[in-house]
Amino acid sequence: MKSRTRREFVYLTGAMALAALGPRLAASESKARVVVVGGGIGGATAAKYLAVSAPTIEVTLVEPKPNYTTCFFSNLYLAGLCSLDSLTHGYETLAQRYGINVIHDSVAAVDPVAKTVGLKSGPKLTYDRVVVAPGIAFNYDALAGYDEAATQVIPHAWNAGLQTQLLRRQLESMEDGGVFVLVAPPNPFRCPPAPYERASLVAYYFKQHKPRSRILILDAKDSFNAQDLFLDAWERHYRGMIEWLPAQFTGGIKAIDVKERSVKTASETFKAAVANVIPPQRAGQFAQQNGLVDQSGWCPIDPITFESKLQPGIHVVGDASSAGDMPKSAFVANSQAKACAFAIAAALTGSERQSPHLFNTCYTHLGPDDAVSNAVSFKPVAGTIKIVDNFVSQVQESAETRHRTAREAQSWYAAFMRDTFGYAAF
Ligand SMILES: Cc1cc2nc3c(=O)[nH]c(=O)nc-3n(C[C@H](O)[C@H](O)[C@H](O)COP(=O)(O)OP(=O)(O)OC[C@H]3O[C@@H](n4cnc5c(N)ncnc54)[C@H](O)[C@@H]3O)c2cc1C
Repeated sequence: MKSRTRREFVYLTGAMALAALGPRLAASESKARVVVVGGGIGGATAAKYLAVSAPTIEVTLVEPKPNYTTCFFSNLYLAGLCSLDSLTHGYETLAQRYGINVIHDSVAAVDPVAKTVGLKSGPKLTYDRVVVAPGIAFNYDALAGYDEAATQVIPHAWNAGLQTQLLRRQLESMEDGGVFVLVAPPNPFRCPPAPYERASLVAYYFKQHKPRSRILILDAKDSFNAQDLFLDAWERHYRGMIEWLPAQFTGGIKAIDVKERSVKTASETFKAAVANVIPPQRAGQFAQQNGLVDQSGWCPIDPITFESKLQPGIHVVGDASSAGDMPKSAFVANSQAKACAFAIAAALTGSERQSPHLFNTCYTHLGPDDAVSNAVSFKPVAGTIKIVDNFVSQVQESAETRHRTAREAQSWYAAFMRDTFGYAAF
């Protein structure tokens, strides 16, 4: 018999889960049910930790894509330092080891009265609780001339996969001496240091292969995360290659001309050989269409349970949530998802609810052997989430310390993926 490829296996797992759904739901009528919308970092972690903490709960994870490619480390891919395959992960372990029903479909809508979520392909799943983790959506209305179609010419590469590959191909085919124009978004957005990490690693790539090329960052802001660390590294590693123009200098980003591959600011128009526009962001479309978003564009939540303040019984974790001081990062999505899973498990099994411990750890590459980190702990305070403690790498650190941090980042990636997608024993 022909052996199956991994990809075929993942599709089959999804198809079988869907086919088995009717009988399984009927057979376990008395079991509490949680449906998780989105199998990114927040959703996959929530599903796993629900399954682990309360085996009596039936957990269903709905995610359209058969595999998940991480945004974190995708800047290393752009620099030619890792493959996209090494950043791509499947759902087999969540299904097999943790007994989660993994369905490869999109959730079209949630009905909080009937307590059902409707899949795009037709079936409806009943739930006791829903966890929503759809990530971000791009607010194209806020950037003249740039829309979904334009991303095929000028990629955002802010969701990893095809967009990241497109940007990498454009960098590869760019002539030496060209200008790479990166448009950095206004706050809040997914991963505050990432646009500047991208500039650093593209500069590393240029230094190896196209040393006459330059990087121009047109920022919607006047300052950015870990600015002193980046400015110091750009001076040490990439002198004269990276120019950062804040909004107060340009007057702000006014429009994108996709045909001309140029960015218009209030003061000047900048022509690019390769452009990378990271648009303003808001909570994923599913959250917007299902009454989970307030005027900020993000989802207000209870800081202990991550239950929506707008829709009882529906919890929101990850980038889509509006969670006080917590930034939009993968580590935060994972930390929120664990707190949310434990709160739901406590509510559905009648066990005692614990106050959550919330964390963020971020590794940022300034070059392949030069990385900095940031570790923060948070706690719920008076209806929101506040920073309790904070560690940040310092400008004057030794090359040895930075090298060690870069090695730590590699170990973190492997451990974090095991924690989220569950490869090894719990
Ligand atoms: C370049 C870059 C570098 C980064 N580096 C780091 C880093 O070093 N460290 C770090 O901690 N973070 C980093 N991040 C941030 C991190 O990637 C995000 O914060 C994280 O992915 C958020 O997780 P999430 O679960 O909220 O969303 P996502 O991981 O985006 O997952 C959302 C999922 O929901 C699914 N979905 C959407 N709508 C539906 C629907 N209707 N039905 C079913 N499924 C749906 C999507 O297909 C997707 O799989 C980086 C981001 C970028 C862009």
